[in-house]
Amino acid sequence: MKMLLGGQWADREKTIEVRDPYDDSLIDTVPRADAADADAAISAAVKGFEISRKLSVYDRAQILFKTAGIVQSRLEEFALTIAREGSKTIREARKEARRCINTLTASAEESKRIQGETIPFGSFPGGEKRRGYYERVPIGVVLAITPFNDPLNLVAHKLGPAVAAGNSVILKPATVTPLSGIKLVEAFMEAGLPPLVMQVITGHGGEIGDALVADPRPRMISFTGGVEAGRRITRIAGLKKIGMELGSNSPVIVWKDADLEWAAETCVSGAFWAAGQNCIGVQRIYVHRDVYEPFRKRFVEITKGYKIGDKLKEETDMGPMINEGEAKRLEGWVREAEKAGARVLTGGRRMGALLEPTVLENVPRNAKIHVEEVFGPTVNLYPVDDADQALAEANSIDYGLHAALFTRDVDMAFKLAYGLECGGVMINDSTDYRLDSMPFGGIKNSGLGREGIKFALQEMTEPKVICWYLPKS
Ligand code: NAP
Repeated sequence: MKMLLGGQWADREKTIEVRDPYDDSLIDTVPRADAADADAAISAAVKGFEISRKLSVYDRAQILFKTAGIVQSRLEEFALTIAREGSKTIREARKEARRCINTLTASAEESKRIQGETIPFGSFPGGEKRRGYYERVPIGVVLAITPFNDPLNLVAHKLGPAVAAGNSVILKPATVTPLSGIKLVEAFMEAGLPPLVMQVITGHGGEIGDALVADPRPRMISFTGGVEAGRRITRIAGLKKIGMELGSNSPVIVWKDADLEWAAETCVSGAFWAAGQNCIGVQRIYVHRDVYEPFRKRFVEITKGYKIGDKLKEETDMGPMINEGEAKRLEGWVREAEKAGARVLTGGRRMGALLEPTVLENVPRNAKIHVEEVFGPTVNLYPVDDADQALAEANSIDYGLHAALFTRDVDMAFKLAYGLECGGVMINDSTDYRLDSMPFGGIKNSGLGREGIKFALQEMTEPKVICWYLPKS
């Protein structure tokens, strides 16, 4: 596939191969852009902003509705692209494609609700004889940098609100999974978005990242990815707005009165969705000691029933990690934890990029698999004796995106929900729940700012005050 720069689909002599992590087969190639391409993308986007800022709200909404319709009409094609270039099974990929339609539809709807308000200028001396209001106006060129794990919907979470707000946007998709994002840009073009309004540039973050990020012309960087790249970007970005959707290490508390069958079932899914490569994936489960044994037994039973392997087979529950190197990295963390005293209850073996769904207990609190974001199919179980211990343990890690708790006791639910340090708490569900229109984002190392269309629109617009001095009034 090609990249879109200055309204032209462009190729380059140097290319990057996009391979299926399951069998290493070649799917396609994309251009390997360089710093000159980054400059060209930004120059085109600056011109694009002169067009996008003048598009009426009606036109923006129509383009977004049409784009959503195109994705809908080719849902299976989008799902296949997601499933082939990334880690998701075909069933997981279909869900992502359906969510992308919701994200675009919500962007169209919210574009009509970008509002300001009147300002009571008379509220302090010196404000008399003034009338005015503020509007929210587009911020300018938005640089959207996206990760590999949701290669379509996380792109939609940036392109949708950027277009809804009247901005121009440059997409830099993850190098291992660029195809779904490029397909979405094609759909925007087909829906009638003026070409200069959107650019997609493919290339390694390590090669073109600095040229994009440090350039003073983009007014905002909307980044989703790991904390390491996030830190570098914030260091060199200069004076521009920054949205950071970073990683996590999500905790779940299962209280003694919980519906254990449901808790086990939904937490297994939450731990192993997309082979655990999910920023809100379940990583640590703190279970009240009174119900630890039955919960552990059921959790392991359900995990053992998981079918892993070929992503394109309907019956497959879990596919490979994004590449063999990542699977080896996490296998190493499992072995390291085992050496330090952890017990592997099921899983732990690796075949190429496939790592079995793995459940551990007795994990030392300094093991990488406890402290770091695993971003893979492993989960740790821990017994706890009381709510304060559960909270202290859950909050002990320097991430805070989602947390979850299971209980039928309302008082306990409130205590835990308000005690958990994070951006969102799921009650009687796993951490792996997101509605695409809710505010989404984290605290601590999990990031800055919020996505979720209405909230992304706040970040991607800025207030402009219009104030009239009316001496004769
Ligand atoms: P990553 O390695 O940080 O890459 C994310 C994106 O940043 C890619 O497009 C990457 O390009 C680019 N990049 C890397 N270095 C860069 C630089 N110096 N300048 C500019 N761009 C640069 O993350 P990933 O492995 O793709 O994704 C996994 C991470 O994303 C996990 O930590 C996960 O938790 C997080 N995530 C967070 C959310 C959320 O909403 N909070 C959602 C999903 C994922 P290349 O691909 O070319 O390296």
